[in-house]
This record gives sequence, C-alpha cells and structure tokens, in this order.
Amino acid sequence: MRDAKRKRILVTGGAGFLGSHLCERLLGEGHEVLCVDNFYTGSRDNVSHLLSHPYFEMLRHDICLPLYVEVDEIYNMACPASPLHYQADPIQTMKTSVLGALNMLGLAQRLKAKIFQASTSEVYGDPHVHPQSEEYWGNVNPVGIRSCYDEGKRCAETLFFDYHRKNGVSIKVGRIFNTYGPRMHPNDGRVVSNFIVQALKNQPITIYGNGQQTRSFCYVDDLIEVICRIMKTPREVTGPINIGNPVEFTVLDLAQQVIRLTGSKSKIEFHPLPSDDPKQRRPNIQRAKELLDWEPKVPLEKGLLATIAYFDKALVRSEEVCLKNC
Ligand code: NAD
Ligand code: UDP
Ligand code: UDP
Repeated sequence: MRDAKRKRILVTGGAGFLGSHLCERLLGEGHEVLCVDNFYTGSRDNVSHLLSHPYFEMLRHDICLPLYVEVDEIYNMACPASPLHYQADPIQTMKTSVLGALNMLGLAQRLKAKIFQASTSEVYGDPHVHPQSEEYWGNVNPVGIRSCYDEGKRCAETLFFDYHRKNGVSIKVGRIFNTYGPRMHPNDGRVVSNFIVQALKNQPITIYGNGQQTRSFCYVDDLIEVICRIMKTPREVTGPINIGNPVEFTVLDLAQQVIRLTGSKSKIEFHPLPSDDPKQRRPNIQRAKELLDWEPKVPLEKGLLATIAYFDKALVRSEEVCLKNC
C-alpha cells in the first residue's frame, strides 16, 4: 500500500541542472519521482546517484510527444535554458516550450493534477522597467535570435492561463531569474559556469560587450525551496511569481569576483555582445515574499564558493577520465 502522503510526481527536464536538484528534494520529502528527459542538455550523470533509489524512475522521452503516465503533480522543467543551447536548434526550443507545455497541460487536465511551469525572466525581454515586477508585460523582439526561447516561454504561459481559465487546470507559474550552482554543465555556456570554468583553467574570462549589463544571480538551493513553496499554495494562487535573487551585479563585477575567489591568473577578454542581450535584469520579489514568506538566503559569494568547489572536482574527474581513455 502507498503512504497516502507520498505523491507520485513527474519532473520533466529532471536530468538537467534545476530538474535534478528538484528530483532530489522531492525524493527527500518522501515522494515518488518520475524523471522524464530527452538528454538534450541534461545528463544521466546528474541523476546517477538517484537511480538506485526505490522511488525514483527515469524515462527517456521528448515532451513534444504526448505522454500517458499516472501522477499526482507535474513540474514542467524541460527546455534548454542557456542561450548557446536554445539558439543551437531554435525550432526544437520553440517546440519544447509550446508543444511540450500543451502535452503536459493535457496530461495535467486528464489527471486533475497540479502543474508547475518553469517560466523565465526572459518573458520581460530587454526590459524598460527596472526592477521587473509581474505586472510588466515586457519588451521582447519577436523575430530575434532569443525569440525562440522568449516567445516560446511567453506562449507557454498563455497556454497555462487558458487551460486554467477554460478547463480549470490548477497551474503554478514561476518566472525564474538567473540561477546557478552545482550540476550546471561545464560547457553550458551561461555566464556563471563559463567564468568559473575559465578561471579554474586560468583561461581568459570572456565578457560579452563592456560588462556593464546586469544580472541578479540566485543560488540553486534558494530556488528549489521557493518552487516547492509555490506548489504548496492554495489553488487560487496561479502566479506568475518572480523567483530569483534581487541583488544585482554587473557582468564585470561577477568576473572580478570569480577571479578573486578562485585565485585565478585569468585575464579578462572582451568579446562582441550578442544581439538582444538584455541590458539590465533584477526581479521585484515582493509577491513571492508576501505569498510564500520567502526570500533568498545565499549571498553570491557563498553560492559561488560552493559552485567553484563543484567545478573544481568535476574538472579533476574529467581530466582523470581523459588520461585513462585518451
Ligand atoms: P538545463 O538545460 O540544465 O535543463 C533542461 C533539461 O530539459 C535538460 O535535462 C534537457 O535535456 C531537458 N529537455 C530539453 N528539451 C526537452 C524535451 N523536448 N523533452 C524532454 N526533456 C527535455 O536547464 P536548467 O537551468 O535546469 O533549466 C530548467 C528549466 O528552468 C527550463 O525550463 C528553463 O527554461 C527554466 N529556467 C532556468 C533558469 C536558470 O537560470 N537556470 C532561468 C529561467 C528559466
Ligand atoms: N496529452 C498527453 N497526455 C495525456 C493527455 C493529453 O500527452 O494524458 C496530450 C494530447 O496528446 C494533446 C495535448 O496533451 O496533444 C492536449 O490535450 P487536450 O486533451 O487538451 O487536447 P486535445 O487532445 O483535445 O487536442
Ligand atoms: N556573458 C558573458 N560571457 C559569457 C557568457 C555570458 O559576458 O561567457 C554575458 C551575457 O552576454 C549576458 C550575461 O552574461 O549579458 C548573462 O548571460 P547568460 O547566458 O548566463 O544568461 P542570460 O541572462 O543572458 O540568459
């Protein structure tokens, strides 16, 4: 007999950076987890430590295709999140965002299951309003190189709200701002992992543009905590809710901090800024504070140190594997 409190939970994108931390957290709470991933940017390594857990199951599947399983709750995390990866196959990115959302909403509707959508600060595009609050509709280029992701995620939000209004599906939409931490892929391409890996290898730190653009970085543990709190809210709380750390840094600040914390000999190198790169980004998290009694606890320096320690080990491991096999 199943324990009545133990839920069966589907995590799409569960072998990715955030998804794998979420799977771990949900198993820790005593739930059964079905992790669905097509390994586009995620990896088996991220969940290898969970494979022997009696309540963990891994299914290789692309959410652009229908999925018929029986679960109580769904976290829809599947989608490449790094500009490098989501731009590599923009049509697939759009399909994952839109068809993936549609299939997961169809599944949620059939099962009467609550569903969380991993939305993004990218719905605000290159924002004219700063900091960004949920009321702001954004400034998104519909035909640029980031549009596959930005518009895909915006369309997914629309689908979530229409399934809620029209079909009564219980939805929770969280707009995630730049989040970092252990298990990002070393070749992920996002700024925190790039700078740390470059610094650890004493290679040039690649700043795109003049480094004066800003981002606000949230440590993964804070983000997983708030996602779980959102899922536990009453039915009428649908979001969207901004989730992220409101402390803002320039990209140049970040480079200097990473060099300092790693003790690296890396020099900073300036490269062209990709088009439509947002100039500023900082979440207004008032709604999350009020509804969820949540705010991030991990300051950037502490989070960076934990992430640096992770990459340090991961790089040593990959060098050992290379020495053995090359
Ligand atoms: P990630 O690339 O590490 O993880 C995404 C996972 O989804 C990977 O395991 C990938 O293989 C899987 N995936 C991609 N397409 C799929 C498909 N069609 N079917 C099944 N699986 C698929 O990225 P992440 O940082 O862990 O992001 C997770 C989610 O959070 C994404 O939806 C992303 O848009 C959102 N998000 C993340 C951030 C962040 O800063 N980390 C910010 C905003 C939004
Ligand atoms: N769907 C799914 N699993 C389910 C139920 C539906 O993958 O358990 C998919 C279904 O294939 C469809 C989508 O979800 O493509 C939307 O389903 P819905 O029932 O809303 O629409 P319809 O089937 O009428 O197009
Ligand atoms: N960036 C950078 N060097 C890198 C990777 C990224 O200067 O090696 C910049 C990028 O141009 C952007 C910011 O860092 O201004 C954050 O980029 P990321 O890809 O992490 O996420 P975004 O918030 O742009 O989706």
